[in-house]
Amino acid sequence: MTAQKKKFGIMGGTFDPIHIGHLVIAEQVRDRFNLDKVIFIPSGNPPHKSRKKVTEARHRFQMTLLATISNPYFEVSSIEVDREGLTYTVDTIKKLKEEYNNEAEFYFITGADAILDLATWKSTDELLELCKFVAATRPGFKLSKMEKEIADLEKKYSKKIYTILVPALKVSSTDIRHRLNENKSVKYLLEEPVESYIIKNKLYNNSNKE
Ligand code: NAP
Repeated sequence: MTAQKKKFGIMGGTFDPIHIGHLVIAEQVRDRFNLDKVIFIPSGNPPHKSRKKVTEARHRFQMTLLATISNPYFEVSSIEVDREGLTYTVDTIKKLKEEYNNEAEFYFITGADAILDLATWKSTDELLELCKFVAATRPGFKLSKMEKEIADLEKKYSKKIYTILVPALKVSSTDIRHRLNENKSVKYLLEEPVESYIIKNKLYNNSNKE
């Protein structure tokens, strides 16, 4: 009898900074798809962000470690932050497949707004063969527009794209950066150790990051 393949979630994002919304999404997707674990992968130098200011990768990686430490099903990988040059999801997933001897099934989880641009990513056809996609949305996102765009992508690539709506969580990294910049409270929007790390390292002061 062949052993059942392990199922891993791959939580890709800038995580600038990581907040409770990301954690809730990862846990909900883990539960819904019965995943063995979720691997958080803070992005390294993504092609579409090259002209935008993003916090140093080592800080985003450390904050992701701190935020996920208490969940035994969560792991963090430095696979992208360690890589030189531009980082493409297709290369990350190929490397992970090798690491797990092609014995695991991957679910790539990220924000729906990023997934709607999937057609512009590197080697989209190959990527959709390598892993399943889960698009996460939050309140405020125009669901009907997204459903249509996701349906168009599914038709174009003949692949299923899963969606997950996490209610009651309107938290975003952009909003948190603005709050920190304006000295407003971010308590309970972030895990406490992440907030302490931000204060200790004086991140997001005078930030004009979008
Ligand atoms: P991002 O700027 O981090 O986020 C885009 C949107 O999705 C934001 O609204 C963000 O909310 C939300 N989000 C981010 N990560 C999420 C997650 N794991 N679960 C739920 N929502 C999430 O995202 P990005 O930099 O565009 O890219 C997301 C992922 O796609 C990364 O892993 C990136 O490497 C990959 N990507 C690859 C290519 C390529 O291979 N060519 C191109 C584009 C993107 P917050 O702001 O609150 O985080």
